[in-house]
Formats: sequence, structure tokens, C-alpha cells
Amino acid sequence: FIPVLLHLLFSATTPYTTLPSVLLIGPPGAGKTALLTLFERGPLYNPDNRKEPDDQENPDNEEPPLDKPTVADPVAKTHTSQVPSTVELAVATDPNPSTTYRTDLDATGATAKKFLLVDTPGHPKLRRHALSHLQGSSSPTITPSALSPSSSETHKSKLKALVFVVDAAALGADSDDTGGLAATAEYLYDVLITLQKRFHRRSGSRAPASVPVLVAANKLDLFTALPAALVKSNLEAELGRIRKTRSKGLLDSGEGGGDGDAGAEEGEGWLGGYGTEKFSFKEMMEFDIEVEVIGGNVLGEGPGADKWWKWIGERV
Ligand code: GDP
Repeated sequence: FIPVLLHLLFSATTPYTTLPSVLLIGPPGAGKTALLTLFERGPLYNPDNRKEPDDQENPDNEEPPLDKPTVADPVAKTHTSQVPSTVELAVATDPNPSTTYRTDLDATGATAKKFLLVDTPGHPKLRRHALSHLQGSSSPTITPSALSPSSSETHKSKLKALVFVVDAAALGADSDDTGGLAATAEYLYDVLITLQKRFHRRSGSRAPASVPVLVAANKLDLFTALPAALVKSNLEAELGRIRKTRSKGLLDSGEGGGDGDAGAEEGEGWLGGYGTEKFSFKEMMEFDIEVEVIGGNVLGEGPGADKWWKWIGERV
């Protein structure tokens, strides 16, 4: 009994050497940091404890006290994230449908899998950094300490999934606002083509570990938000448009003959099924890349974040 106890004590304090990780990616303002905080607060979060909502317009307000064991707000005040942050989370391994990110796994005694959730900066100038983790030809790994100086993790972590967060209220096809759809789709295009290129670069017959992508259609609490199905079709249509534009350059240079990427596989720079007219996320399965669009929200009333949590839990 004592050796078992010692072993338990020891293993409880020994850090895991290779926790799998999930990368949060997406345009600025979509809610990545909010989602990270929501999951991090998990069982501490108790909306019934809510006080008056903080004045969003007044950044001079003092930080609301983090009164543990419960916190009233799902998210901390987010700041423009220049530096990505990483949190360690645990998901129940037993597929009990009632466990969510809010479940206190310690209290229920459930067995759990730990993983790292890594936030990345959405600013276009810093995206290269996020994308660089997807470029390895074998299993993609990330080094959380390189991403976040505050993280003590120094080992490489195996990337299990990507969560691409979008603002569902900013993706109208004909919205006259800031071109949220075009900008979001550009970024998603870069992510997907990077994953696809990894697949092309596989060595021999060994396919690289696939990295599934969840498009989290966030902010469904807002009445201006599009439902997930529309977020999906709008993104697909826009990705198709981008593909057409980019492939035009590609074909032009290719047909000119001679210079450039003469050795590239046919269709390598083409996102999805080669030669298809309309783009659909299903085409990415050709490259073993699963893409799923699920709606939810971090703040306000709506479907919440449970489905995203479930999706992540099934893939770490
Ligand atoms: P990031 O740049 O992707 O990290 O986005 P943030 O997490 O900083 O969120 C950007 C803004 O969107 C913040 O003002 C959040 O409070 C807000 N936000 C995030 N999630 C939601 C949501 O589900 N609903 C609403 N209404 N606002 C949200």
C-alpha cells in the first residue's frame, strides 16, 4: 500500500513530459482569449454570482477581484494579446455526457486527460508565428515556452487539434462593415493550405498525424450573429473565391513554363479537391483534414461552449 501511495504522490507532483496541445487561432476580436479564460475558469465559474456588468468602455476601472472559489464573470478583461498564453486543462476521459468544462473533475474523482490550450495572437503581422507550428512534415509540435515566456513548459508538445475562432456576427456575405468575412477567410485559407502542404510533404507512405480543425462560430448570443450553417456556407464561398484568385496566379506562372515551381505536384497550391468548382470543407478530407463548424458563445445567453469542449475532449 505504501509504495502505491508513494507512487501516487510522486506521479501527482511529477510534471507530464508531453502533454498534447490544442491551438487557438483566428482573427483578432473573435474571442480566443475570452474562450481560453472561460475554459481556464471552468468549475470556478458561477454565473449566479454575477454583479453589475463592468463598464466595457472604461478601462480605468479596477480589475474585478478574482474571488475564489467562484467567479461571476466567464472571462477576465481581455487585453490586446500580443503574447500568446497557454493554460493547462483537463477533460474527463470517461465519456459521461454530463461533464463539461465546468465540472470539477477533482471533486467528482473522474479520470482525466490533461492538455494544453495555447492562445495565439490574431494580429496579421504575428500570424506567421502561429502558422509556423503547423509546417513540420511529421507530427506537428509546439513548444509552449517559446509561445509564451510566462509558461514553464519547455518540452515540445504534440499538436492534436486546431480551434479557429470566428466572430459569427461579423461574417455576413454582404455586410457593409469591415470586411470581416474576407479577412477571416484569408486567415482560414492560410491555415488550411498550410495543413494541406504538410500532407503533401509526408515522407514515404507514412501520413503525418492529422490535425482536425474546429471552426468555432462564436458570439451566437448576439442577434446579429449568423447561425453556424450560414457561417459555414459563407466561409466556404469566400474560400472558393480566394482559391480562384490565388490559383490564377499559380496557373499563369505554371503555364508560362520553365521557371518557378516546376517540380510541384499537380494541384499542390490548390486548396481542397483539385479542379472542383465550389469549395467545401469536405474536400479537405482528401488530405485527412477534418473541418467542422460548430456555433456557440462565451458571453451572454446561447448554446455556450459545451459542444466545443466536447469536440476538443474527443481529440486530445
Ligand atoms: P481575441 O482577440 O480573439 O482574443 O478576442 P477577445 O477574447 O479579446 O474578445 C474580443 C471581444 O469580443 C471582447 O470584447 C470580448 O468580450 C468579446 N466576446 C468574446 N466572446 C464573446 C461572445 O461569445 N459574445 C459576445 N457578445 N462577445 C464576446
